[in-house]
Amino acid sequence: MSPSLKVKAPLAWFGPGRVRRHAAVVADRGVVTYAGPSAAAPAAEERIEVEGFLMPAVADRHVHIRLSDPAAVLFGGVAAVRDLAWTPDEIFALAGASELPSFNGPIIRAAGPMLTGKGGYPTQDRWAPPGTGLELDGPDHARRVVTELASRGAAAIKVSLNVEAGPTPSDGELASIVEAAHARALPVTAHVQGRGQAERAVGAGVDEFAHTPWTERLSESLIDAAARSMRIVSTLDILSYGNITPELRTACDNLARFRAAGGVVVYGTDLGNGPIPPGIHVREALLLHEVVRMTPEEVMTAMTATVLEPGAPADVIAVDGDPLQRVEALGRVRLVVRAGRVVTAGS
Ligand SMILES: [Zn+2]
Repeated sequence: MSPSLKVKAPLAWFGPGRVRRHAAVVADRGVVTYAGPSAAAPAAEERIEVEGFLMPAVADRHVHIRLSDPAAVLFGGVAAVRDLAWTPDEIFALAGASELPSFNGPIIRAAGPMLTGKGGYPTQDRWAPPGTGLELDGPDHARRVVTELASRGAAAIKVSLNVEAGPTPSDGELASIVEAAHARALPVTAHVQGRGQAERAVGAGVDEFAHTPWTERLSESLIDAAARSMRIVSTLDILSYGNITPELRTACDNLARFRAAGGVVVYGTDLGNGPIPPGIHVREALLLHEVVRMTPEEVMTAMTATVLEPGAPADVIAVDGDPLQRVEALGRVRLVVRAGRVVTAGS
């Protein structure tokens, strides 16, 4: 059991609308016990004073953690990840291990395999080991698969609606997936790629786009319907790795209109696919700010899953500078605390 911990900083963001000067966060037994003015903070066995900016650690809602390094992910300021496609035996075991205090990495939640059509994406893709894609054999099979994944602790059900790479689940299979997942309070997240697939996902009652749709400009009516019923995991930089491409332009245009229509955006990087660095990916944050026109605080809200208040997980980072003024500061992580344990305290 780690000792109780107090972290003091000249400036903190505990969550939306909650900026504090001369702040402190106290953690005990893995959870926050105090977040407020440092002058009123209770004592703790271990004390750290940082020059930087305190905030909740970052959550990445779209990773393939086995293609990256969990320790480097946590060291880079990301204390929670959601894995959106891997072989189930391996990823559910790793997710279980990630709950232990001894685990050197973020807490991992996982979808398990991506549900797809016979020979569909990602069964033919080199990045995906056998079992990453699960080929469906009818609506009843789809229902049984979802039930099995739910019993193994899946955090979401991932479906492949990628018509550019092969067969996708049939409409009947898709309806079964959504119905069975919702019966177990599990969200369905979709990889949509190719004409008509975003519309198909919205029509089927899918809860989330695992990527911002990038293969076509979505109509205003579709954007409105999606904004009412879905959220979008950003994954913008995976489309261009720092360049401006037609795919990135289309995605940013879709995402900006989705936000304007009231849709919820969360941060995700698709870590593991392509040269996305482990930890906070500041270029993803900058795209959300500079191109999608989210305010720094909106970007930070999209990047975090908890607020710092008593009872919350003691997952805290400090960055060098004030990200509410300059988003780039999110790339300068100086301290990481996961479940009340100091992972790194740099200079
Ligand atoms: Zn992915």
